[in-house]
Amino acid sequence: MLFLPNPHAPTARLFAEADIHRLADKAARTGWLLVIDEAYHQFSGTDYAPLARANPSVALLRTFSKAWGLGGVRAGYLLASPEVCNVVQNFVPPFGLPAHTAQILLAVLESPGYVQGIVQTLVAEREKLFQALQKHPTWRVYESQTNFLLVRTPDAAAAYQGLLRQGILVRRQDHYPGLEGCIRVSVGTPQENQRLLEAAFSLAEVPHA
Ligand SMILES: *Cc1c(COP(=O)(O)O)cnc(C)c1O
Repeated sequence: MLFLPNPHAPTARLFAEADIHRLADKAARTGWLLVIDEAYHQFSGTDYAPLARANPSVALLRTFSKAWGLGGVRAGYLLASPEVCNVVQNFVPPFGLPAHTAQILLAVLESPGYVQGIVQTLVAEREKLFQALQKHPTWRVYESQTNFLLVRTPDAAAAYQGLLRQGILVRRQDHYPGLEGCIRVSVGTPQENQRLLEAAFSLAEVPHA
């Protein structure tokens, strides 16, 4: 089994479509499963459901935690061939979906435009934040297809602490190989993003001892 988050976390990028199709073909030929984790797919506008439908060696994981804004509901789903679903069913506890969870999911699923509204606002804010952070004197911001931005700073610990002192919590990513200095910033409300920008630019002005 190969798990592929697409868009990827924490790089916030998409894999090339041709590469995903090559992996899917290979999975079909050699009998393994390609599991595409589409936790962020609404923010990139990608959807591998047609591929999973056409190729039983491809399965998709989806969550209500990101674009739907329902992390506390703890719900997600698998899109896979009946054969794969039958196997997975053996590992799922009986009555795994509480009634109140189902009611919340029904309410949002039956509200036209619910998720599209969240995604549209977030993507617009993400692009504004991206443009603004590109002007930062010492940080380098990477293009994102998700609801967060990966930023390379001169010193992840200093950036983390400096932001925290101003009441802003980000996630350090510098423990990953190749992501030295990197932090991950969630796109927030317009007010939160403005505060982040002010804090980020104020950090660059701190004189070095
Ligand atoms: C958030 C996330 C998930 C799903 O998380 P749950 O809240 O447990 O549904 C899955 N994969 C990635 C890459 C994520 O970022």
